[in-house]
Amino acid sequence: EPILEMKQISKQFGPVKALKGVNFDLYRGEVHALMGENGAGKSTLMKVLTGIYPRDGGQIIYQGQEIAFKLPKEAMDQGVVIVHQELNMINHLTVAQNIFIGRENLKFGLFTTDETINRQAQELFALLNIEINPKELVGNLTVGKQQMVEIAKAISMNAKVIVFDEPTAALTESEIKELFKIIDDLREKGIGVIYISHRMDEINQITDRVTVMRDGEYVGTLMTKASTKDDIISMMVGRVIYEDPK
Ligand code: ADP
Ligand code: MG
Ligand code: MG
Repeated sequence: EPILEMKQISKQFGPVKALKGVNFDLYRGEVHALMGENGAGKSTLMKVLTGIYPRDGGQIIYQGQEIAFKLPKEAMDQGVVIVHQELNMINHLTVAQNIFIGRENLKFGLFTTDETINRQAQELFALLNIEINPKELVGNLTVGKQQMVEIAKAISMNAKVIVFDEPTAALTESEIKELFKIIDDLREKGIGVIYISHRMDEINQITDRVTVMRDGEYVGTLMTKASTKDDIISMMVGRVIYEDPK
């Protein structure tokens, strides 16, 4: 059974119907792409999932239970984490401090030293095959590296579902390769990954399924490997292509 099922989700902003009954599901160890033109409602769907916005209608089932996270913190505590296009790092703190900020007391007792969290961060990076110095100031890292710090943070919080919202927008080619390796690793660890993108090459390369949205509507879901680029494109542009009888 899926770790996550979103059914008939609706959400309106004033007169704008951003989501008009959208379905999405996700399995453990699956990388599931969410695709659609700008304004299709992809980010809104993920913000509804992660407690940034309340939904107007529909149902979310996570680990077999119906849920409605009221705050991102609540979603995070339950293992559902979003890595935003705009990252949330604090530049003048170190990598390790960014990962463990606000949680030191819970995890390590009141008098946590930098030494402790540096070691903890180092173990985390080793687990994920990430090469970053925990003592480095986050402000000195590239966007790609900062993103990896966010992923490490999610893993340290025991994330079971990680949402990436157009993660490659600001990355170099080599950073993209590194990110894809990490995403493969997440898959092997049994984590569910939701991957928002409109880049067909990326979707073909690293995802298992793709769900297409258009104008707030759910269009459909395909297995990525079994589908041709044309199938996915025709889903995106509409059903016209399917109806052509030749
Ligand atoms: P996508 O991520 O697919 O580009 P969004 O989810 O960002 O799409 O937006 C879907 C629709 O909802 C758009 O018409 C957008 O203008 C609108 N929208 C998104 N967030 C808000 C908001 N906070 N207030 C008002 N309208 C919003
Ligand atoms: Mg957009
Ligand atoms: Mg978006």
